[in-house]
Amino acid sequence: METQGSPIWIDGKLVDWSEASVHFVSNSFQYGFGVFEGIRAYEGEAGTSIFRLDAHIDRLFNSAKIIGLDIPYGRDEIIEACCETVAASGYTQCYLRPVAYIGYGGMGLSYGDCRVSVGIATWYWGEYLGQGKLEQGIRVKTSSYTRHHINSNMSKAKACGNYMLFQMARTDALRDGYDEALLLDSQGHVAEGSVENVFIVRNGALITPPLTYILDGITRDSIIALARSQRLEVREEFFTRDAMYTADEAFFVGTGAEITPVIALDNRLIGRGTPGPLTRQLQSLYFETVRGRNKRFGHWVTPVSRAMA
Ligand code: PMP
Repeated sequence: METQGSPIWIDGKLVDWSEASVHFVSNSFQYGFGVFEGIRAYEGEAGTSIFRLDAHIDRLFNSAKIIGLDIPYGRDEIIEACCETVAASGYTQCYLRPVAYIGYGGMGLSYGDCRVSVGIATWYWGEYLGQGKLEQGIRVKTSSYTRHHINSNMSKAKACGNYMLFQMARTDALRDGYDEALLLDSQGHVAEGSVENVFIVRNGALITPPLTYILDGITRDSIIALARSQRLEVREEFFTRDAMYTADEAFFVGTGAEITPVIALDNRLIGRGTPGPLTRQLQSLYFETVRGRNKRFGHWVTPVSRAMA
């Protein structure tokens, strides 16, 4: 991560990276009260384009609604601001991080009177799970932590404070020599990775957990639509970790992780212990689509220059 990066949009203005700071006495810093998104822009057919920008901004506003935060901007303003921030960055491909937060005050736990700010940063992020992992796949460990119960932390909100659990799960997995953590839900079913949704393949069909306990991932949604466009069978159903051990293939999906093959879980090789053929097929389809080369899903990419024109 750079110490001197690209301009950051805060509350309507682009400011220098070094000026974009938040006060120590801020509710969001002290309690993790805020919501955020992770989005990618790719260099494609129509120049630099943001993938599924509308869906990400809808989720940002839904996350805010769930935790009870009023974002003082319209969806279109934030969409425009994302394009403006990418254009100002000079990156042809980058990661975008919009955050809605309480930047000053609100030291009591009630936040009704606090002023909500929005910031949008961009930076270059290559392969999130490590160089070469899209090709080689990753080794995953089932976490000892349970994915938040749906009635304590809201699973559909991409809320800052929820990430303490995911951070602990990921850090423990890395310390134990694995590449990523898998969290089970409070009933013991496979839920999701620390920042990824999960798919397994069995007898040519894709299976992914239903949305009940997990984040409604935009990559997950994209993969379901792309797979169905290829007439592949996709089922949303609960499964257990032992069903994942014996799957033919498995992969993690997310904006950061893109489509990363999972080649082993808890030291059991999945399939042959190498990325499987359906995983490979979906990887190439996904990378064509994010670059605007899949005409059927052309509406998923927003060219930065056209949006700003
Ligand atoms: N689950 C969690 C907990 C996440 O943080 C993410 C990343 N946003 C995902 C799944 C994947 O979501 P998306 O495909 O929208 O990035």
